[in-house]
Amino acid sequence: MALSPVDVYKDILPKTNCGDCSFPSCLAFASMVVKEKVPLIRCPHIDPVLIKKYQEILNKQYIEGKYAKRDMSKDALEWSKGRASSINIKGLDERIGGDFYKNGDSYFFELRYFKDTIVIDKEDILYKNGSSLNVWEQVLIYNHIAKNGKSKPVGKWKAIEEFPNSVSKTVAMRDSVEIPLIERFDGHIEELIDAAEHIGGVNITEKERLADLVLIFSPLPRIPIMLLFWEQDKEEGFDARLKILFDETIIEHLDLESIVFLSEKLRQLLCEWASKKGLME
Ligand code: SF4
Repeated sequence: MALSPVDVYKDILPKTNCGDCSFPSCLAFASMVVKEKVPLIRCPHIDPVLIKKYQEILNKQYIEGKYAKRDMSKDALEWSKGRASSINIKGLDERIGGDFYKNGDSYFFELRYFKDTIVIDKEDILYKNGSSLNVWEQVLIYNHIAKNGKSKPVGKWKAIEEFPNSVSKTVAMRDSVEIPLIERFDGHIEELIDAAEHIGGVNITEKERLADLVLIFSPLPRIPIMLLFWEQDKEEGFDARLKILFDETIIEHLDLESIVFLSEKLRQLLCEWASKKGLME
């Protein structure tokens, strides 16, 4: 049977996301192994016996062209959905927030997602207005359910580099979230406040004087995100800085990849609204 990226990830790789293979995560490496024929031996942490066994299978499937063009997102969706379906949904509302509703014989679950509400049933995840979440957002929600976290936020904030095995994710967070936000909002702090309020963020700078601007977002009921922004200070010679922080309980609820994805979504919403507002004015 052909190996998919998820098979390689699950059955062969150590899942530590250490970055020694020069890819940002084990899943990214698995995708490159299956789709781009990157040799397994580039991960120095796999048992040589496993490498021999699986490289032969992979070499065969390269010849047969299996998985070469398969959509990785669909594969990840299937996998995360499978994991979520094995979770006991009793008490899910208490664990991740949200509400259960009954519709005839079936139940569905409503969850707040940024300022919108999403509806989860056995088959699908949709926005309440019926439009679809993209595949990666669905993967995020299924991963959140599958993690089976129980804790509510405790108000202890951590940067991603403070979580275990987060070296490569720290780079991703800086490059795809923090730097783009600095570049977009440096010198435009009012636009950042406006965009934050548009997606349900709250300005708590007066209460928590941790930076020039302190914003709190609640993209999911149990997952608050804090954004700290320091404006450029030309006189003192300081560049603008921005830091994204998470409640320490987040790793009970999301894996590191999903944490970065959720932060990228936050960046996307902020930048999109600021651009849209700019066009309207
Ligand atoms: S080297 Fe790459 S594939 Fe191997 S454990 Fe580290 S991140 Fe994962």
